[in-house]
Amino acid sequence: MPTEVIEAVLIAGDGIGPEVTAAACEVMQAAGAPIKWLSMPAGVGAVATHGDVLPEMTLAELRRVGVGLKGPVGTPIGGGFRSVNVSLRKALDLYAAVRPVRNLPGVKTRYENVDLVIFRENTEGLYTGIENQVAPGVVTSMKVATETACTRIAESAFEYCVHRNRKKVSVFHKANIMKLTDGLFLRCAKAVHDAKYPQIGYEEIIIDNACMQLVRDPSRYDVLLMENLYGDLVSDLCAGLVGGLGVVPGANIGRDCAVFEAVHGSAPDIAGKGLANPLACLMSGVMMLNFLAEKHHSQPCRIAAERIKGAYDHVLAEGKIRTRDLGGSATTDEFTTALISSL
Ligand code: ATP
Repeated sequence: MPTEVIEAVLIAGDGIGPEVTAAACEVMQAAGAPIKWLSMPAGVGAVATHGDVLPEMTLAELRRVGVGLKGPVGTPIGGGFRSVNVSLRKALDLYAAVRPVRNLPGVKTRYENVDLVIFRENTEGLYTGIENQVAPGVVTSMKVATETACTRIAESAFEYCVHRNRKKVSVFHKANIMKLTDGLFLRCAKAVHDAKYPQIGYEEIIIDNACMQLVRDPSRYDVLLMENLYGDLVSDLCAGLVGGLGVVPGANIGRDCAVFEAVHGSAPDIAGKGLANPLACLMSGVMMLNFLAEKHHSQPCRIAAERIKGAYDHVLAEGKIRTRDLGGSATTDEFTTALISSL
């Protein structure tokens, strides 16, 4: 039994959330991760049990322990309550979404040598959801950008480059059309680069061209920096380069709290069928362990993270047991068992 125990909030979420978070926790426990999970409600399921999609007690626990692993939550389309993800990120000021996108051993795609990290501004842009009906048949949506938020996400991206030996930041934008908002985003990114990180490569690319370049040759990119909505879209595009949404993890990082979660949504089409790939959630758990290893100088977290990464690299490279999204026929449970056997 590990002597050191670190508390972390666990949000199972909706759809495939309970399946993938259970699998991730099982593997993390088997790998000796010294985590005491505090299960907290959020999402559509929390309305029935706690009368709220994002109960205050969940936010309070996250504020107290400062770290969590979260499954996806459902969001109604074209009406209904505000996205829980948006509310959570706003409430805890989790301003940086960090999403590493890499080729995995044995997972063949059209591309090789993909090794990108997306930095998505997580608190403003069109995601503020400020919309108005100005006249019958005429609606508007307000895109918000502040110097503070644009500057701190740029700082995060460049600081990451320094720590992880990354060479270049590419800023995706549409400042030719959104001259004020995307213009501010660009100006802040360039100011941060020029003042503090001149040794890191820097480029600005109009996002439509950037997407074309991404699908033509993703290996030309290193760290990608962009505002909220572009980050959402480009994350799914990038997932498609390396095998899909089942293999891309993520972190939402603020000054006082960090919540780790896969890029994918609640996937209602496969929920409850044992078909979900738990890897993206597990990889998010590995990011959490590495974050804790740094924050608490926790050797057990570091070792558990390495063991889990070794296990999934091995199982994927072997190629015998895979979930359906990666061309296999294994269930979530069968894949989880294979990972645990390979630890
Ligand atoms: P959101 O808007 O909430 O991010 P989304 O519209 O991007 O959601 P997802 O729920 O992520 O949609 O699902 C998109 C597709 O990818 C669906 O067909 C879903 O089944 C598939 N998918 C997503 N996550 C996984 C997973 N972990 N394993 C297997 N398939 C997945």
